[in-house]
Amino acid sequence: MQRIHYAATAILLSLVSTVSAQQITGIAPKQIIGGKGEVLTITGSGFGGSRGSSYVSFFREGNTYTDATTGNAFNYLSWSNTEIKLEMPVAFSNKIKVNINGTDYLSTDTLKVKANLGYRQANPLLYDLLTDNNKKGGVTWLVHPVYWNNPEIKQAIADVVQEFRCKTGVNYILEPLTQWVPLNLGQGKHIIAPDSSLGVVGFNDRLWASCILGAETFYHNQTQLLRFNTQQNWYYGKGQPPAGAAKFRYVLFHEMGHSLGLGHVNEWGESMYPTVTLLPSDNWCKRDTITAAEQKAIKHYISLSQNFAFRGCGITPMKPNIDCKDVFGLSVGVESLAQEGAWLFPNPASNQLQVKLPASEHAAISLWDTRGRKVLSANIHGTETINLPAALSDGIYMVRLSKDHGTQTTRLIVQR
Ligand SMILES: [Zn+2]
Repeated sequence: MQRIHYAATAILLSLVSTVSAQQITGIAPKQIIGGKGEVLTITGSGFGGSRGSSYVSFFREGNTYTDATTGNAFNYLSWSNTEIKLEMPVAFSNKIKVNINGTDYLSTDTLKVKANLGYRQANPLLYDLLTDNNKKGGVTWLVHPVYWNNPEIKQAIADVVQEFRCKTGVNYILEPLTQWVPLNLGQGKHIIAPDSSLGVVGFNDRLWASCILGAETFYHNQTQLLRFNTQQNWYYGKGQPPAGAAKFRYVLFHEMGHSLGLGHVNEWGESMYPTVTLLPSDNWCKRDTITAAEQKAIKHYISLSQNFAFRGCGITPMKPNIDCKDVFGLSVGVESLAQEGAWLFPNPASNQLQVKLPASEHAAISLWDTRGRKVLSANIHGTETINLPAALSDGIYMVRLSKDHGTQTTRLIVQR
């Protein structure tokens, strides 16, 4: 009896020690962005004095946990018996696992991944960045005539681009697609277009390119497309779409989010949730702004796209957008209102505008609203006074002055 009792005690002790030897007691932070270099700290016990063949495993798109090959490629900053620090990779929200010598240990806490910034390589983090692709500071998206010529759709696209420009600093501008081209990446044009042969609701295609200079290979996105299925019952307005309709602005958030480096998340409420129509996204697609997590992830990507040091193959970084509401790039090239606008008086103007040129000079003047519509054009000789159209509403307009030797542009404020 005595012997058996001792034996039973020994087994019990051994069980207790097995359960408590390896376990995850905490993760911090509990809410994180994947793929942008944020540090995740995992605390617990029995992790081993060094990593060896052990690794951390995360839930991913496709509903599986990352395997050993992926886990070994993460950037571990430190590994001790009680604490692991690593750069948070792209992942889906769920409990996390630590695999120690072939055995998985599951956390009790859930890690919420609110946004993911997709990368080419996890360690060190390497992305396909955006550049000054149009040599006007960023990327010009050419809008298909079916969209450009429909005021409601054009407005929806302009509003979404303005949201991204103002919230993330991306230098995206819009111009009309004036020449017919087939919808493929081989055209070298960034195009936003309807597509009758698209098998999904919306799609972002990307063509990356690389340039090697010395020891560095720089990867960048060269061309992208944003295509939208013509078979959908589209709603182009703001707020909640009518039942059964697909909200174009929301789907554009999602696809444009991809174009700005974002991957999917399984967090409800985020634009990068994989399904973009009907439920569950109908529960949150009424918002007409991007989320805080999306803003943070894209801002990081834009900062990298604006500040890289690589200078091969004519590649230069994306430039900051000066006026985030200027979605049609009207202010591109405008240096300073005081210097450039000296030929306009008064500014702000109410009903009349005086254009001052040297007495012998001729020029064509045109006035454009922030939606890219021409609202006035006239020919000027020397100093002349122009009557502003009565229908012109208060706001900022672009004035273009075209002379033989070039074009001058400035902003005009109309206040009545
Ligand atoms: Zn997607």
